[in-house]
Amino acid sequence: MSECSYIGCERTDSFWPAGYEAQPDDKPCCIFHSPLIEEKREKFEAEWQKFLETHQQDENEYGDLDCRGFVFPGDVGLVMLTFTGQAQFSEARFNGNASFFGTTFNANAEFNGAVFAGEAAFTSTIFNGETQFFKTIFRQDANFSLAECHGKFSLRSTRFCGNASFADVSVKDAEFELIGGAYDNESGEAADTRVFEGDQRVPFNQIDFSMAKQVRFEHVDLSCASFLGSRVEKVEFSDVWWHGTDSLELYDDRQWEAKDKQERNLDELHQIQELYRQLTRSSNKYRRYQAARTFHIRRHELRRQYRSFPGNLLEGIYKLLSNYGLSCCRPLFWFICTLLTASGLLGLFNPEHPLYPAGNPRWPTAIWPNIQFNLALVFEMKLLDFDLPWNILILCTVERLFLLLILYFFLVAVMRRLTR
Ligand SMILES: [Zn+2]
Repeated sequence: MSECSYIGCERTDSFWPAGYEAQPDDKPCCIFHSPLIEEKREKFEAEWQKFLETHQQDENEYGDLDCRGFVFPGDVGLVMLTFTGQAQFSEARFNGNASFFGTTFNANAEFNGAVFAGEAAFTSTIFNGETQFFKTIFRQDANFSLAECHGKFSLRSTRFCGNASFADVSVKDAEFELIGGAYDNESGEAADTRVFEGDQRVPFNQIDFSMAKQVRFEHVDLSCASFLGSRVEKVEFSDVWWHGTDSLELYDDRQWEAKDKQERNLDELHQIQELYRQLTRSSNKYRRYQAARTFHIRRHELRRQYRSFPGNLLEGIYKLLSNYGLSCCRPLFWFICTLLTASGLLGLFNPEHPLYPAGNPRWPTAIWPNIQFNLALVFEMKLLDFDLPWNILILCTVERLFLLLILYFFLVAVMRRLTR
């Protein structure tokens, strides 16, 4: 009999399999902390059931559960249970599949440094307390879909090596954070900070992040993350990868573009545009103005490319005149161009200062009086009386409308800058 060498474990009945010859660096461990997976498999099951029974408070209800550093040799199913106390699984190693389907954690749940070698199911799991997955490694698929997070839910430096799903997660009143960081790989080599290492789609669909207290995605590779149907305008995205390291094109956008024309669904396109709109707002809120510009332009580009006439034409004009309401210089340029062009056209009709009297061009001497005349008409220094020729009246009316439109775009761009 010797004490378990796992720090904090006070069990004195070390597990040594019958006939097992202890190696010099083997440390005494209890059945739960013993790394001898194959040898302990059978005995573990019985001891694990006993362990659970001692913590049982009611049917399917358990109090504090200290499973720190436990080495689970096979599958673990803690399904449809309620943990009323602390559930501690930090540094645990799940060698088989682990399922927490439908289970409720009413207090804190800790999985820091735990390793899930098999599949991990947190489907429909309810996390009411503070939940931590700091440096947890999911070697295979991890499923959090339909989970409910209501306290602080933290995935920091967590590694998802297989597929991961967060579809339909509820984050009402939660503080949800998903933060990558510098962690070493198994051989202690270069740090990989992407969080999601698989190349499959990572669904964050149908999540109303606006219900959460706070949501942060930081240093995360979101190049496979799908946010279709989610509300993301309150989400703080900081140093995340959307497409490689330099592009801000959403995964959903790229998928839509890659589809054949027949497969394309307009509802999906609208959802993508809405995502870009919300990302623009979130980027502005967190002072990432360059990202906000890019998202804004991409949203309008999609509208210009895939809207039918006349929507696409209007978007084209919007782009030409003001770069979708972002540029102040472009409207000014068009303002001057319009005044000059209209002045030139005026010269063709103006009997007082004709540009081409009797086919004899008087350019540019006659242009200046026409510019003056035009400015006087446009800015109402000279009343637009109906004695003027009809072509001058029409020209001036069209010019005024066009200048008003350009002025509106200019003000939109100015307001956009001022409201930052
Ligand atoms: Zn122990």
